[in-house]
Amino acid sequence: MSTSYEASLEYAQEQDQIDILFPFRERFLFPQHNEEDVRYFCGNSLGLQPKMVSYLMECELRDWARHGVEGHFRAGYPWFSYHHIFEDRLAKIVGAKKDEVVAMNTLSVNLHLLMISFYRPKNGRYKILMEAGAFPSDQYAVETQVRMHGFDPNDAIIEIAPREGQHLIEEEDILNAIATAGNTLALVMIGGVNYYTGQFFDLQQITAAAHSVGAYAGFDLAHAVGNMPLELHKWDVDFACWCSYKYLNSGPGGVGGAFVHEKHGNNPEVFRLGGWWGNDETDRFKMRKGFIPQKGAGSWQMSNAPVFNMVAHNASLDIFDKAGMATLREKSIKLTGYMEFLLRQVTHLPFEIITPSKPEKRGCQLSLLFSENGRNVFDYLTYKGIVADWREPNVIRIAPTPLYNTYEDCFKFYEALMELKEISENYTYAAEG
Ligand SMILES: *Cc1c(COP(=O)(O)O)cnc(C)c1O
Repeated sequence: MSTSYEASLEYAQEQDQIDILFPFRERFLFPQHNEEDVRYFCGNSLGLQPKMVSYLMECELRDWARHGVEGHFRAGYPWFSYHHIFEDRLAKIVGAKKDEVVAMNTLSVNLHLLMISFYRPKNGRYKILMEAGAFPSDQYAVETQVRMHGFDPNDAIIEIAPREGQHLIEEEDILNAIATAGNTLALVMIGGVNYYTGQFFDLQQITAAAHSVGAYAGFDLAHAVGNMPLELHKWDVDFACWCSYKYLNSGPGGVGGAFVHEKHGNNPEVFRLGGWWGNDETDRFKMRKGFIPQKGAGSWQMSNAPVFNMVAHNASLDIFDKAGMATLREKSIKLTGYMEFLLRQVTHLPFEIITPSKPEKRGCQLSLLFSENGRNVFDYLTYKGIVADWREPNVIRIAPTPLYNTYEDCFKFYEALMELKEISENYTYAAEG
């Protein structure tokens, strides 16, 4: 495919014209720069606001004003059952059955709740295997769970790092470490797509390896959900959790999500912390003693649905449903491939792309590792109305998302980098901004 790409504005605009997902960008609000839409490459950090959000938010405010407590049953989307409206759409996005998914809480909270159930050390099986340099919240969650059970994190946590001189983790190293840990291993907990490098792991293979030594496999899908096609049920994953404000465009601090395989979700023997919203729904208002978990992932819920925090999720999942993950993925491969093709023409700047070059090993994100001046380049992009994401010490992350990014966006990004060549030959661009 890459052989047919062209580094020209005409080519990029032509691709936009034949892109069936192009009209979807009309459904989003773009930040402005010099009275124009920015070129937004930060959907991996905070997705854009769907235009429908403010209308749907108005509806909830109106229903509250009009109905007060009766809104639990009389609101347009009755609040009593509000969390159920997400199941169908989430199930399609992560490849699950309806009762294997639930929208609840936020990501780090869900990770803790699920580890309460799936990290229960006993009989010498107490270790957790994760990737080195995981997102800090995941590191803290795993560290404190281990401490909670009285273990030393230095002993109980096995971290898999890239080999000397490499940026990516060899999957073989993960599989070997699982085999080596054997019956000391309780849990494998890995980020499905690494937030820093954009590397996507073979979740099915890792799950099978974990199961073969009697351990559970759970994944943090913050950077995978809405980005990669997933088949969590088919892959026999034990549990997963994610946030909704990155690729899922559901707003800052938006409601998180969780997957629990039905073999656990429907098994009342699997311990879970109780709250009234996870209790058997038919019994919820009987105010009886004794927690009886409902069937499925919903039984991990604690509280009634935070409706205002779910409105944007509703708007966004509608867009995903209309576009479809398969169509999104098809464009994503081509769009990120185009960005990669363009970046390979940029030879005057000191960076390398550390994200895997194989499409099946990455989503839409590309991570550019600079040996110097990365921050200056980032500042120049900002000055040009291009929103990228800076990660210390020296990485620029960009995510051309298939829902609202265009081929022209990619070309404009490339054009800005090419301009830097001329500028740097004359004067320092840092002085401009
Ligand atoms: C974004 C992200 C988080 C953020 O957690 P919140 O609880 O939503 O604040 C956690 N882990 C990973 C891997 C992330 O990418």
